[in-house]
Amino acid sequence: MAKRDYYEVLGVSKGADEKEIKKAYRRVAMKHHPDRNPDDPSADEKFKEASEAYEVLSDSEKRAAYDQFGHAGLEGQMGGGGFSGGSFSDIFGDVFGDIFGGGGGRGRGGAQRGSDLRYTLDISLEDAVRGTTVEIRVPTLVSCSTCDGSGARKGSSPTTCGTCGGAGQVRMQQGFFQVQQTCPTCRGRGSTIADPCTTCRGQGRVEKTKKLSVKVPPGVDTGDRIRLAGEGEAGTEGGPAGDLFVQMSVKQHPIFERDGKHLYCEVPITFADAALGGELEVPTLDGRVKLKIPAETQTGKLFRLRGKGVQPVRGGAVGDLLCRAVVETPVNLNKRQKELLNELQESLGEGGKGHSPRQTSWFEGVKSFFDDMKS
Ligand SMILES: [Zn+2]
Ligand SMILES: [Zn+2]
Repeated sequence: MAKRDYYEVLGVSKGADEKEIKKAYRRVAMKHHPDRNPDDPSADEKFKEASEAYEVLSDSEKRAAYDQFGHAGLEGQMGGGGFSGGSFSDIFGDVFGDIFGGGGGRGRGGAQRGSDLRYTLDISLEDAVRGTTVEIRVPTLVSCSTCDGSGARKGSSPTTCGTCGGAGQVRMQQGFFQVQQTCPTCRGRGSTIADPCTTCRGQGRVEKTKKLSVKVPPGVDTGDRIRLAGEGEAGTEGGPAGDLFVQMSVKQHPIFERDGKHLYCEVPITFADAALGGELEVPTLDGRVKLKIPAETQTGKLFRLRGKGVQPVRGGAVGDLLCRAVVETPVNLNKRQKELLNELQESLGEGGKGHSPRQTSWFEGVKSFFDDMKS
């Protein structure tokens, strides 16, 4: 699919400055955010498109390359597919911090909700269909245990900011006006740390790889997300933790292809079975089942095994397994086998009984095509 112009995606002019771009991105991304559009499958795409446009236009180097050479100017610069892991939470911390992060989570001082994290989980088709429990390891920020997240050295505690008296805001006289501003001493936290904790250097949070057990319900598909509330980054100064979103990515299967709740597979059949009919063993996710092949089966015929597909995670009827017959041409023939085939070929040619329905109609099609050209 051809990529849309990044300026068009965000709805800004070519001359838009950083602020306008950020504002526009925020508007577009909020509109298409997958969490707000759970029923719109195209929202995720649009959201990614906006994120990509923002990644480029907010970066002066990438933007310059894009302005000069278009999408071609960015080749090799955009990380594989763009947005996962780090950049997701970075962009969110930056742009959405005060919407998703803050809303309700922000206390009077500097307490802020931690960032949400996204983790892409690769699972096999079998696990996606049957459900499973997996252990994942997620690098994140957790509350510092030495100082209990306060950032102050053990035995001491943050002291109320002397400048603002703990309010985090100060009133300044400017001419006739009184303006309220974020306190410059404590930067809005309302407290200062005289003696910072050595473990977290006063941050109240430390990096840690968390081990988590994720229960994957049966029927999930690529793109489905599981939300683990409170398993994202720890908040600052006692603020609540963010959430962890585990995004499913179902791996290719050697036999089955999945389309929603239905499964597809190709079943090779010999041309003797195809011609005379026979019984085949076909694979399903629950083991092999027998499939009757009627006589005169052609390549491409679909056999539907009802209820052998996937039980959708959001409920509804179980899907089907569709087996597509592929008639195989025999190979490595010996002299005798070739003779037999020649005999068969001759015998089929006698009497003009129409043993090749497709070929007959194909030749008729070709003939009328040329007849039409002549007239
Ligand atoms: Zn600490
Ligand atoms: Zn202060």
